[in-house]
Amino acid sequence: MLDPFGRRISYLRVSVTDRCDLRCVYCMAEDMTFLPKKELLTLEELERLCGAFIDLGVDKIRLTGGEPLVRRGVMQLFQGLGSRIGAGGLKELTVTTNGTQLTKMADDLFKAGVRRINVSLDTLDPETFAAVTRWGKLEQTLDGVFAAKAAGLQVKINAVALKGVNEHEYDRMIAWCGEHGFDLTLIETMPMGDITGDRTDQYLPLSTIRRRLAERWTLLPSAHSTGGPARYETIQETGRRIGFITPMTHNFCESCNRVRLTCTGTLYMCLGQEDAADLRAPLRDPSVDDTGLRDAILSAIARKPKGHDFVIGRNHAPSVGRHMSVTGG
Ligand code: SAM
Repeated sequence: MLDPFGRRISYLRVSVTDRCDLRCVYCMAEDMTFLPKKELLTLEELERLCGAFIDLGVDKIRLTGGEPLVRRGVMQLFQGLGSRIGAGGLKELTVTTNGTQLTKMADDLFKAGVRRINVSLDTLDPETFAAVTRWGKLEQTLDGVFAAKAAGLQVKINAVALKGVNEHEYDRMIAWCGEHGFDLTLIETMPMGDITGDRTDQYLPLSTIRRRLAERWTLLPSAHSTGGPARYETIQETGRRIGFITPMTHNFCESCNRVRLTCTGTLYMCLGQEDAADLRAPLRDPSVDDTGLRDAILSAIARKPKGHDFVIGRNHAPSVGRHMSVTGG
């Protein structure tokens, strides 16, 4: 499946719910209105749609959200998709989670075929964690992280770089990740959706952070790439990788291999653009068979734009009106 710029689309990210059990300040407003349940694709519909993407050459699927692990029955979807790993065409099934449900679900994720997960964790300080997530408890996420490790899952920690909030913590997080065998990715805040407050106050360019880290740690070039926005280096002292996702300071679109499906069946061809294709209508139309569904996907891919143009600044409306929880990052 090639887009108009010759990029092979092999990676589908699926937001299985817009709901979340946390309210991270940079991600959601405190009083979010969530979608009525009837708007959501059923788990069976999600599985059929993902199957159509796999048949078209997608070999990596990440379930995200909202918080994917709070969607009722979601393990059924993991199991269904997991059964397509290998001969079924899928190379990897993975998930991005805030970790709160992992003590209950890590073993089942592993059994379903998941081998690597991303856990979002912006701070190791309990008070900062409570402030950033508005109502989360650090201990619950840490218990989840260690349950995942014990289940055999490879864990990558994702931390959003927040000015004046966690910027003094990266050395500690690098050491902690090194101690427990986790990779770490730092992410610049992206201007998505209205949140309480001004994003300019949160924005911290990772070029500055990287320079600071390089004074303390030996950062070695790494060839590792996911075809995505992260640039990776290896930290010699810990042997673990550190990734930098810099949508604001580095344009990463030239190697983009992904598209994003929401829980209502809307396909976003670019995280930083508003254009989207409705796949729920063909999915629910009894006169549209699998070939018709495939055509709907292909015509959406034919509209994938060259890139995005995020702008952050005071008095700027968010570059993209929807919240990150719609597409899951
Ligand atoms: N609930 C899951 C989690 O916490 O990982 C999955 C969904 S969450 C929207 C996915 C990732 O997007 C998280 O790592 C979160 O920190 C990040 N994120 C949310 N809003 C963001 C923003 N405006 N800029 C950068 N990253 C953001």
